[in-house]
Amino acid sequence: MIIFDLEWNRGYDKTPLEEILQIGAVRVDAIGGKIVDTFCIFVHPCVHRRLNRTAKTLPELQSAFDSPHDFPTALETFRNWCGGDTVFADWGGDDFEVLRQNCAFWLISPPEATQLIDLQAAFSLRVGTNQGVALYRAAEYCGIPDVFTFHNALNDAVYTALVSEWINADALALLALPKEIRRLNNCPTFTPPPAKESGPYGSVQAALNGRGCRRAACPICGESAWVRRWYTAAPDDYFADFRCKDHGNFLCRLHLLHTEDGPLTGQQTIPPVTPALLQEFEKAIRNGAVTCKSGSKHSRHWKKRRHSTPKKAETR
Ligand SMILES: [Zn+2]
Repeated sequence: MIIFDLEWNRGYDKTPLEEILQIGAVRVDAIGGKIVDTFCIFVHPCVHRRLNRTAKTLPELQSAFDSPHDFPTALETFRNWCGGDTVFADWGGDDFEVLRQNCAFWLISPPEATQLIDLQAAFSLRVGTNQGVALYRAAEYCGIPDVFTFHNALNDAVYTALVSEWINADALALLALPKEIRRLNNCPTFTPPPAKESGPYGSVQAALNGRGCRRAACPICGESAWVRRWYTAAPDDYFADFRCKDHGNFLCRLHLLHTEDGPLTGQQTIPPVTPALLQEFEKAIRNGAVTCKSGSKHSRHWKKRRHSTPKKAETR
């Protein structure tokens, strides 16, 4: 496995290229395993005429200007060093994209990658935060001494490899799941509120679009949030996730009840997140999403109606 890092310059001109200035990498036998080899090459910049603010502060900037290698030569050297390794990992998930972008600019093919692992996302899952942790903070958190300067691609690859020792199998398994599921991993415990009924609705789509079904409330503080899309678990059974800015993500379940004469009633619950429920939600996500209508015509209609007859039952 290759853990790699790039330093680049965005420039200020119209060429949309994150011009790579350094490629740094380490080869490890596994995530959290031993570093068995290292790689570093500086790339002489020749696309942008000016440096952006971040590039200006790179500690090894002069080494890029002193480098005899252009990007195609540097990439070939990197490709040869990678050999048959096709699993790549980085901190943040941007690096491989930038590598691809530079390859596209120079009309060369990127190194073959069979798997890309975002170790920052895995680390966040491991330590239980939904936010991206800066590499220096992660190193600090893990008690790794800061003996090497950050923002040197090789040093950052080394730090990433050392920090990844903290990433366990659970975090990696979570990383493979859809983001909706990952976000529910830190769902706080709460007393489930009573089921909320709304309607009547003339059709399934009307119920899924219905404000009564889509408006969810944080079970801890009551702050309301909107469901943007539903995932079908079974006919008349839908899941969604929503977020309270203070208490994180919650799961919302919608059950549609058919009445004898046709119209539907929506029954919304906010169930506590259990592994079994997450499995059901994951299956529903794989079935595909039903996006709630938010076309301009529709939202205008809603707005108008909200102002004129706010408590009118929904029949759409
Ligand atoms: Zn809340």
